Amino acid sequence: MGIIKIIQGDITKIKVDAIVNAANTTLLGGGGVDGAIHKAAGPKLLAECRTLHGCPTGEAKITKGYLLPAKHVIHTPGPIWHGGDHNEAQLLYNSYLNSLKRAAENECTTVAFPSISTGVYHYPLDQAVKIALTTIRDFMQTDQVVKEVVMVCFDVTTFEAYQRAYQELG
Ligand code: ADP
Repeated sequence: MGIIKIIQGDITKIKVDAIVNAANTTLLGGGGVDGAIHKAAGPKLLAECRTLHGCPTGEAKITKGYLLPAKHVIHTPGPIWHGGDHNEAQLLYNSYLNSLKRAAENECTTVAFPSISTGVYHYPLDQAVKIALTTIRDFMQTDQVVKEVVMVCFDVTTFEAYQRAYQELG
């Protein structure tokens, strides 16, 4: 059984086996954490992403980390919030689960996540946090590869929401 850590910080600075990118379905870069990861990784990341021909929402694809301290980047497009009756919860669950599966398949023992979909995709923070933490916890209860997951929260509101939910989870 692995451990979950919650920190406030910039995911592009974290030295782990894999960081997860809250990408869009083109995988060709964007704003927010996606833009920050591409900027820090350098142009070779975009070149590798071009060979992947996009990624459906909730799926996940892995690349190298290039100039990042992290060895790999796992790219997953989370769902755009459309009110909650467009399969958003299942798709967000899929994003976390498929990212963790890619990590395990590639022998990544340490993984860092941003708060997927709660930025410009407007997923309600409190709902997203519960899905994130329960999916990660449940995965690590059976998986033998992933030993440590770090939730990297960029802003204090996100950090406090994850801390609160983590304590409530017990
Ligand atoms: P999405 O499109 O999935 O909503 P965003 O990038 O807009 O993705 O936001 C997802 C979360 O990532 C937000 O909480 C945002 O504040 C955060 N974020 C932005 N830049 C970084 C970064 N460098 N490290 C970690 N989290 C970040």
